[in-house]
Amino acid sequence: MTHEIAVIPGDGIGQEVTPAAVEVLEAIESVDFDFVEGEAGDAVQAETGEALPQATRDLAADADATLFGAAGETAADVILPLRQVVDSFANVRPAVSYPALDAVQPDTDLVFIRENTEGVYKGIESEITDSVTTCTRVITEEASRDIAEFGFTYARQNGYDDVTIAHKANVMRQTDGLFLETAEAVGEERGADYDTALMDALAMHLVMHPEDYGVVICPNLAGDMLSDLAAGLVGGLGLLPSANVGPENALFEPVHGSAPDIAGQGVANPSAMILSAAMLLDHLGYDEEGDRVRAAVETVLESGPRTPDLGGDASTRDVTDAVLGEL
Ligand code: ATP
Repeated sequence: MTHEIAVIPGDGIGQEVTPAAVEVLEAIESVDFDFVEGEAGDAVQAETGEALPQATRDLAADADATLFGAAGETAADVILPLRQVVDSFANVRPAVSYPALDAVQPDTDLVFIRENTEGVYKGIESEITDSVTTCTRVITEEASRDIAEFGFTYARQNGYDDVTIAHKANVMRQTDGLFLETAEAVGEERGADYDTALMDALAMHLVMHPEDYGVVICPNLAGDMLSDLAAGLVGGLGLLPSANVGPENALFEPVHGSAPDIAGQGVANPSAMILSAAMLLDHLGYDEEGDRVRAAVETVLESGPRTPDLGGDASTRDVTDAVLGEL
């Protein structure tokens, strides 16, 4: 069986790390892929006036899965609609520390399960007057239930004992009140062990004692911020993959953005993108192959070469070749 994969490199280092992930997938001989490339981001916006052309939307909608690199200034016009195109309600962001790296917190093994469709990301903002603006935060029982069910299932299937529901229901009593109440109900229905945590206090505890946590189920913006915080604990954005999962389709992307400060230099760390490709393999049912890719990345993180973000002086090409060598 051949799997059709939409490949959307986008802008900046997306153009550099996405081909690395494709090469890694091509090296997995037990799985057949057909890669179809689509355009999105600042460059295509400048050319055509559209950051996410219809042809690219169609590509992602029709593919078995999508690999997305990054978008620059147009990120909100690209990734938010793309996540809708693949109908992804769950954003899965693992943050794992590797023994070989001098991580701030070497005992980190966290997975953020971030609600991916609502909250402030609905983009409902208004300018009331020149000096007063508002943002409407949308939380529904349906989306809260979907993400909680996904989170508890993920924890069970992946062997995580600790599940934490993040919220700020003491301030956002209606919206996060509903999120918390719904997620707790799911935990109760399943007879699962779980904790709840105010997201601000949780940020502090994650920095000090990440080993006390496993799966963290979060509303949209909290999941974005807490997972970036966790990236800092394990060695930086160059290491964090993510999956946007829907009932039928999924999109895989690094947590990092287009990194304009290092784009074009050939020194971006491809690990986050390659680990995103490993999540794609898991998603398609190739868990063993996904594990092989993760093991190859881990070996290279241990033995080098390393890109400058990890204290080395290797290029994206060098690291990719080393991972391919391990495979
Ligand atoms: P976005 O708003 O799109 O998430 P951002 O403003 O958070 O983007 P990033 O593009 O993620 O910015 O980059 C943040 C910092 O992390 C930059 O200094 C960038 O160079 C660094 N960085 C991000 N990804 C990588 C990578 N793959 N390799 C090396 N450094 C990276």
